[in-house]
Amino acid sequence: MGSVTSTTTWVYDFSEGNKDQKDLLGGKGANLAEMTNLGLPVPPGFTITTDACRHYLEHGSTPPDLAGQVTEHLTALEKAMGKTLGDPADPLLVSVRSGAAASMPGMMETVLNVGLNDESVQGLAAQSGSERFAWDSYRRLIQMFGRTVLGIDGEAFEHALDEAKREQGTDLDLDLDAEHLRDVVGRFKAIVREHTGRDFPQDPREQMDLAINAVFDSWNSPRAILYRRRERIPGDAGTAVNVCSMVFGNLGADSGTGVAFTRDPGSGEQGVYGDYLQNAQGEDVVAGIRNTVPLTELERIDRGAYDELLRIMSTLESHYRDLCDIEFTVERGKLWMLQTRVGKRTAAAAFRIATQLVDEGLIDTDEAVRRVTGDQLAQLMFPRFVSGGDATRLTQGMNASPGAAVGKAVFSSETAVQWADRGEKVVLVRRETNPDDLAGMIAAEGVLTSRGGKTSHAAVVARGMGKTCVCGAEELQVDTTNRRFTAPGGVTVEEGDVISIDGSTGLVWLGEVPVEDSAVVRYFEGEIGPDSPEADDLVRSVHRILTHADEVRRLDVRTNADTPEDSARARRFGARGIGLCRTEHMFLGDRRQLVEKLILAETDEDKQAALDALAPLQKQDFVEIFEAMDGLPVTVRLLDPPLHEFLPDLTDLSVRVAVAEAQGHPDEANLRLLAAVRRLHEQNPMLGLRGVRLGLVVPGLFAMQVRAIAEAACERRSAGGDPRPEIMIPLVGAVQELEAIREESEQVLAAVFEECGVELDVLIGTMIEVPRAALTAEEIARSAEFFSFGTNDLTQMTWGFSRDDVEAAFFHAYLDKGIFGVSPFESLDRPGVGRLVEVGVQGGRAARPDLKLGVCGEHGGDPDSVHFFHEVGLDYVSCSPFRVPVARLEAGRAALGGERAGS
Ligand code: ADP
Ligand code: MG
Ligand code: MG
Repeated sequence: MGSVTSTTTWVYDFSEGNKDQKDLLGGKGANLAEMTNLGLPVPPGFTITTDACRHYLEHGSTPPDLAGQVTEHLTALEKAMGKTLGDPADPLLVSVRSGAAASMPGMMETVLNVGLNDESVQGLAAQSGSERFAWDSYRRLIQMFGRTVLGIDGEAFEHALDEAKREQGTDLDLDLDAEHLRDVVGRFKAIVREHTGRDFPQDPREQMDLAINAVFDSWNSPRAILYRRRERIPGDAGTAVNVCSMVFGNLGADSGTGVAFTRDPGSGEQGVYGDYLQNAQGEDVVAGIRNTVPLTELERIDRGAYDELLRIMSTLESHYRDLCDIEFTVERGKLWMLQTRVGKRTAAAAFRIATQLVDEGLIDTDEAVRRVTGDQLAQLMFPRFVSGGDATRLTQGMNASPGAAVGKAVFSSETAVQWADRGEKVVLVRRETNPDDLAGMIAAEGVLTSRGGKTSHAAVVARGMGKTCVCGAEELQVDTTNRRFTAPGGVTVEEGDVISIDGSTGLVWLGEVPVEDSAVVRYFEGEIGPDSPEADDLVRSVHRILTHADEVRRLDVRTNADTPEDSARARRFGARGIGLCRTEHMFLGDRRQLVEKLILAETDEDKQAALDALAPLQKQDFVEIFEAMDGLPVTVRLLDPPLHEFLPDLTDLSVRVAVAEAQGHPDEANLRLLAAVRRLHEQNPMLGLRGVRLGLVVPGLFAMQVRAIAEAACERRSAGGDPRPEIMIPLVGAVQELEAIREESEQVLAAVFEECGVELDVLIGTMIEVPRAALTAEEIARSAEFFSFGTNDLTQMTWGFSRDDVEAAFFHAYLDKGIFGVSPFESLDRPGVGRLVEVGVQGGRAARPDLKLGVCGEHGGDPDSVHFFHEVGLDYVSCSPFRVPVARLEAGRAALGGERAGS
């Protein structure tokens, strides 16, 4: 921002702003301005900008000319209202309200009734004709001001209030009359004196200025900082301050305050949703002091105010063209609007509302696609708990990683592993997890912790594994020593008791909650047609929005699949081909012995024999996959992992050999195997003998695979199919590597096609997953017909860490310290890894303009990364079958210029 000039405008009247000025005026201020300009009944006021807050936080003091500008606006407000702030005879009162650009509900502070003091309380009583109301308002001011501005523990006030109620033999605020409340004010003032060594400030303007600074300070309160970290809101944005003339819901039974939604934020259904509380001020609704009534009751209580509220809600919906939430107050029959914003909603509501708005003509289908996110779609694809059953709800923690998990509670990683090994479903419960818990987390259905937020170890690792997790369930007392936890109300859960946790809502139950498959997945599977009677409006919304996303997207979506089953499912989910078919899985199981033979072979004949045994098995794998993807491209990656992954573990084998020797009959075969394991052992397997390097030093290995691919393709062709194989060479760093393998592969292909009398066009390309490949892409492209960015390895190699080793070890700390906003394995690191992708794209296209470009790392299914791949001009993304619909949607949103992360 630099230094402050005298021309900076720090303060705007409500009538001067609009809803698009959130960064400057905060969300609350921008929307108050918008409502004012719509002619809705908003109590007049003004907004102090976030610029002023940033100045304050940076310099520790307000801008020198702020006070003057506030005075100007206050004077104008006083003139408009015909009252002066804190005037003893007829005081203007104001609220001083926080409001940042990003919504942070309840995180920062608001002070109501500013301007009351020992004198003006009398004036307020006279003007309103209600002593009780005046003293009630004054005690609220001292309470809120004491807590937020003077930093006094709120309990001190609550305690005093409770005492006053006890003396009157009641526990209802409303049973205290004017005299009692005057007495409470006395006690509150004593508390202030006792805690701060000075009297409650009587000067109205001083009250207001102190409250403004307190709102600025509340930006950096510990809970606001924590909230921002969890929600990934930047820490330097600052908050605006709204000074708003007071309206009073606590003037009697003809007054009240409430909140409302223009549609149900849970389901998206249309109707009247909200709560109302008679004779109360705003904070009472959330504080839960008295029971609110459903908003529909307002119709009976005050028909006029109710009708006007419904009219305004409908105005706001058509104006914002979206679901809005609202805060309002009724003062002696007159309705006042105190806040509105585009409301948060569940994933299901987001889809339903988007299509409802299309049908109502408020938005077009493009906009409907922009209004929902891939993350929301992913939420809808998890199995869900159905209500019912006899489970008892225990608590609600943080929804750290979605899914529904049911299992026996266990309290240590070892128990989780042991019980899971004997076939039991378990949920691992810990106060918090650390890297030692990894095995238990893998074994468990889900993870529940009582401490830590969304970047805690449990949350980060569970999300990485796609495992259900509820974290930070602070109401639970977890006692790992005695293997039990206690929930509110004293319910104790012992090891072995069945619990259910919902990673999408954070809810925790004792007992088994029944789980059902997602209807959206059943739709993708083709089990529910979009027009079938079984399809509810959610399925129909998803269908309509995805159909449109498919129409507008430029990126193709393929899948990563190694089996015919996965290929078929991905195709049902909308994949147009396979972007990554890994072949290593095809060497496991029974076939391991054949790989062992290959590795142990001492003569060329032995080697060839081992390869010959593998070839037909490998061919059959491909036949089935080509069949499942008939007519669509199938990119087969030749063998990538180091060979020792197919051999027994070094320690296990050493023990077996040693035992055999000790028993006096040494095992020759195992001895030879052990020698091979030692020879192939690597310090850093990730950086060792793998990928194209294997193909170059194990003669015949890649040739066997290429032959299997070619023969499978010929077989499919003869059977009338349309196989479209593409051969992909992993881990290439230099064009020479690729050239050598290409030459060999082309010979094999030609030979097989000659044998079979078939002519097929088979593309040969490479992965770009070592930084050197990206940097020399132009050379490499001369020998490659396609590139597929392997962004998992590219991320590892660019950062110089191995995912398996580091994710559980320190990522949570990095996220917590803000070094990462999000794990680079989850969402592509644009400035680093993304830069290499760009370099690779430019180099590749420079050499070969028709080069086909794709990505096959897990980033291919990550919403934010999909937008990046769209921007850099890739042809397709490839991701796991379950992410295919997410990628389709985000590719559509990217093409429409939808926001990356959505809201
Ligand atoms: P939050 O951001 O926590 O919702 P608000 O600034 O909206 O905080 O205010 C807290 C409560 O006080 C809300 O219920 C709001 O409606 C009420 N409130 C704020 N300003 C006024 C006012 N000028 N008159 C009456 N009630 C108000
Ligand atoms: Mg509010
Ligand atoms: Mg790789």
